[in-house]
Amino acid sequence: MSAALDVRSPVPVTLDRRCLSLRVDPDEVLRFQGYKKGRDVPDATVLALFDEALALGESLMEPRFVYRAARVTGQEPDVIQAGGEEFHIPEIGRLWGTLEAVGAGICTVGRAIEDRVRELWEERELPLAMMLDSVGSAAVESLAEYVNDLLCQAAIPSSMRVTNRVSPGYAGWDTAEQVALFRLCPGLPIDVTLNDSCVMVPGKSISILVGIGPEARVDHYFTQCRRCWMRDCDYRRAPAVTTVHR
Ligand code: SF4
Repeated sequence: MSAALDVRSPVPVTLDRRCLSLRVDPDEVLRFQGYKKGRDVPDATVLALFDEALALGESLMEPRFVYRAARVTGQEPDVIQAGGEEFHIPEIGRLWGTLEAVGAGICTVGRAIEDRVRELWEERELPLAMMLDSVGSAAVESLAEYVNDLLCQAAIPSSMRVTNRVSPGYAGWDTAEQVALFRLCPGLPIDVTLNDSCVMVPGKSISILVGIGPEARVDHYFTQCRRCWMRDCDYRRAPAVTTVHR
């Protein structure tokens, strides 16, 4: 599966559902619904609603991923320069170590889920609308994790390491730098654009940046292998602890 993906590709590579495995984690959907794992127990009505929304969501999802790498031309404690862009990410030098390249990517489950959620709101089917929205959010999170796994696996044959992903708007990285990330890896091949507020359209999309290199520090905030589905990976650093399997 990862043969389709060159982790150091200097030109944009697009993957679609033929290469992307996508499973929705029920726990993640319920988390978006406000349930706390181990504390809140959904009743039968909620679980039936989840089943309905999941079936609907799975029929509407169109997972896609576009990815491009760029050689790192400069690194400072809080800055990475690559591909003519400069990313200001707090403490990234300490967290990721010395890099050879960065990989920028955008993944999406498409706009059909959002369109259906809007219709359900208009039809006053509010519980299903909210559950379907949560299914879409959980799906794109799962997709972002999966592409991170794909990149890690694709890098192994060339003795490269791939870090955990980071995204503009999180961990102190300014959302406005979505613009630079999109210049490095345009979203148009998968129909994802940025609006004037640097928000992606469709909304069920996630942009990522990973570090690449033989010395790159992986697992900088959690152990990637713990929720990686690559069962036969000889390089696994920790057993998988997942609630959903691809
Ligand atoms: S098991 Fe670990 S090393 Fe192997 S592909 Fe997954 S994240 Fe990478």
